[in-house]
Amino acid sequence: MKYDRIWNFNPGPAGVPLEVLEHINEGWFNYQNTGMNLMEWSHRSKEYDVIHNNTVSLVKKLLGLGDEYHVLFLQGGASLQFAMAPMNFLGEGKTADYINTGSWSTKAIKEAKLFGNINVAFDGKEVGFTRLPRQEELKLTDGAAYVHITSNNTIKGTQFLEFPDTGDVPIICDMSSDFFSHRFNTKPFALMFGGAQKNLGPSGVTLVILRDDLLKTAREGITTMLTYQIHVDKNSLYNTPNTFGIWFMNRVLTWIDEMGGLEAMENRNRKKADLLYGFMDDNLDFYRGTVDKDSRSWMNVCMRLPNEELEAKFIAEGKAAGFNGLKGHRSVGGIRVSMYNAIPPEAIEDLVGFMKGFIVENK
Ligand SMILES: *Cc1c(COP(=O)(O)O)cnc(C)c1O
Repeated sequence: MKYDRIWNFNPGPAGVPLEVLEHINEGWFNYQNTGMNLMEWSHRSKEYDVIHNNTVSLVKKLLGLGDEYHVLFLQGGASLQFAMAPMNFLGEGKTADYINTGSWSTKAIKEAKLFGNINVAFDGKEVGFTRLPRQEELKLTDGAAYVHITSNNTIKGTQFLEFPDTGDVPIICDMSSDFFSHRFNTKPFALMFGGAQKNLGPSGVTLVILRDDLLKTAREGITTMLTYQIHVDKNSLYNTPNTFGIWFMNRVLTWIDEMGGLEAMENRNRKKADLLYGFMDDNLDFYRGTVDKDSRSWMNVCMRLPNEELEAKFIAEGKAAGFNGLKGHRSVGGIRVSMYNAIPPEAIEDLVGFMKGFIVENK
């Protein structure tokens, strides 16, 4: 492969499009004849400003968002959003609904409990997080401040490709591991966030998209750096943002745009998922998926082999054959194939080829 690269199935930080690395590399010593790398410029310079505002525009264009949405580049990852959202939007006497579909929602619930009243509208723990809730199972609160959802469960490998109906209650969504991977109706979403390190670039920058009507319900008296309104008023420039990360994200979003936007990503991701899950379903005795079919993630495919020795052998031989990052999360074990936007269908074709050979050798 070009530059002796390998197929990278890491769950995050994760593979990025090669074209983006090449573009960043081109401007490394002298960005657009400015004589400096872009990250050496001030975050208040004209040179940087163009990239900053263009990144906001790209986010809005790709998701089809109107002026009622604010696009922010913050720090602290999705993990800080777990606290910042309830801190701002779960005032005294209010209740927020949480749909618990795995480790990340569990962490979000833990944070929210520090700030207000929580209702767990579905507790996936009772089914080992192997499936998502059906609409009729949700115990939603009338007049809740918001409903918190994790769109893709990176560790267990489940994903909402269709979202639950929450009526008039706005959705706050952790989109860390499937941001920009398929089309969806953004209308119910008042807050979407995620660290860049899965679908959007390097770690250290968090994309936050916030709708004005939710913003208006925010509490006052919160410390400056954790007040959404401050970051909205200052266009994410209250303090020094991760300028390199935002530049990188800009290039990833440009790449998505040039590929054909969310529709193209959706087709690409569906193709990969059909290929890998299709092969697994034909070889159930060897590669057993760990979640219900209708809850399967297009981003993180989790499976078990007949025994743990074979799993260890699969990971080791896979690595030697140029497939990195196949080990399941330590809390789950088994195999996990993380295949975010940047992973091309050819990577999955190659992997399936390897998986076929592995059956023949080990049956
Ligand atoms: C990776 C991940 C997180 C954690 O993100 P940080 O940026 O490390 O805080 C949260 N939620 C989901 C769904 C994730 O995949």
